[in-house]
Amino acid sequence: MKVLVAGSGIIGVSSAYYLAKAGHEVTVIDREDSAAMGTSHANAGQLSYAMSSPWAAPGVPFMAIKWMFTKYAPLIVNPKLSLKTIKFIFRLLRNCTADRYTINKSRMMRISSFSKMAVAEFIDEHDFDFELRNHGILQIYRTDKQVADCKKDTSIYDKYNIKYELLDVDGCIEAEPGLRHSRDKIKGGLRLLEDQSANCFMFVNKLVEECKKLGVNFEYGVDIKNIQTLNGNVSCIETSSGSYTADNYVVALGPDSPLLLKPLGIFLPIYPVKGYSITLPVKEDIDAPQGSLLDETYKVAITRLGDNVRVAGIAELNGYNKKLSFKGESITTFVINNIFPKATRETTDNEFWTGLRPMTPDGTPIIGKTSYKNLFLNTGHGTLGWTMGLGSGKLISLIMLKEDTMIDIEGLGIERYQ
Ligand SMILES: Cc1cc2nc3c(=O)[nH]c(=O)nc-3n(C[C@H](O)[C@H](O)[C@H](O)COP(=O)(O)OP(=O)(O)OC[C@H]3O[C@@H](n4cnc5c(N)ncnc54)[C@H](O)[C@@H]3O)c2cc1C
Repeated sequence: MKVLVAGSGIIGVSSAYYLAKAGHEVTVIDREDSAAMGTSHANAGQLSYAMSSPWAAPGVPFMAIKWMFTKYAPLIVNPKLSLKTIKFIFRLLRNCTADRYTINKSRMMRISSFSKMAVAEFIDEHDFDFELRNHGILQIYRTDKQVADCKKDTSIYDKYNIKYELLDVDGCIEAEPGLRHSRDKIKGGLRLLEDQSANCFMFVNKLVEECKKLGVNFEYGVDIKNIQTLNGNVSCIETSSGSYTADNYVVALGPDSPLLLKPLGIFLPIYPVKGYSITLPVKEDIDAPQGSLLDETYKVAITRLGDNVRVAGIAELNGYNKKLSFKGESITTFVINNIFPKATRETTDNEFWTGLRPMTPDGTPIIGKTSYKNLFLNTGHGTLGWTMGLGSGKLISLIMLKEDTMIDIEGLGIERYQ
């Protein structure tokens, strides 16, 4: 069977890998000159299987109001609200009830756990370096209230059988010695022991090489203009380099997915939530993070990737605008200098980056079939595309090939919005 995968981010390349592994003839197309140049380029690198939770949660509306009056707030909203932004906020708020949160969390956990298994299986089968660290992910708390709230909430980890440690300040410093320079700023932490961190961009590019060995054809610099249909099927994809045909098609276009599917009557409620990252060289190993952390107050992730530290976060609602803003840079640099003051070196060519998270209002990606028989979706991974990437690629291949999906796929597809 010939399959065309649209998009060469972590989701598209993972889909291509599993389809090619199953013996199919796969072509991947992307408008960029190489893989992972979209949102998969410089994310926080966290493989947060245990921390897979929707942003829409009880208490979030109150927090969002508080953030409007906070310096270095993790949320930025363009005051000129577009209709799309208003719709997204409204849908997100509707998911902030306890009942919706439980349903959405359980769907996300299903994919993340599946992906965790896929990553473990992949590591067993391949020997390539993608700066993987098995150091867990440490959530750090700066207030007594955060520590108390965390202690109250551990039942959720027990429910999902997640291994964790509640740490006092000394425990946090033992886990991350670099925190000794900011002892007075932290009150405690929660360490999710089985979470990992690694370089998504490096992984995708090595996976591309693996895919090529399986015969996958990558066509870069090809801009998809529209998707043509005939009698309930996709007939071809029209691009800047002519039209492409296949038996089956997978849309893995990240934040751009809704734009190309709208003319087909497929309305994906995906909004491009902008995030920022900065990548800085490590000064002294002992002063730098050894694994990955999340500063709960500023919702900023700090991850060791090889000889660098990646600092990432912020949710900016500003449509498809990808301008780097001073505010984004100031929040990320403030957090790293505040919590790991001696970790990084000042350089003139720090990599400051922005990407658009393909966010659904319920946090769950959209993976599965569509009303067009040969069109499949693998998109909307929001804040967790790296975590869910390999699992989502494997899942879409199993769905397309009508094989046992191993996990319940209820509520993961587009039908939940219809
Ligand atoms: C600041 C930040 C930090 C993050 N941190 C983490 C983290 O720690 N852990 C985690 O799990 N996730 C994280 N994420 C989320 C994760 O990066 C995304 O969910 C993931 O990269 C989405 O992958 P994708 O393949 O769907 O999209 P993309 O990587 O954007 O891939 C889509 C591809 O489609 C191509 N494309 C789009 N339109 C067209 C067209 N018309 N024609 C041809 N090609 C097209 C693009 O060029 C792109 O290559 C973070 C995101 C951000 C922004």
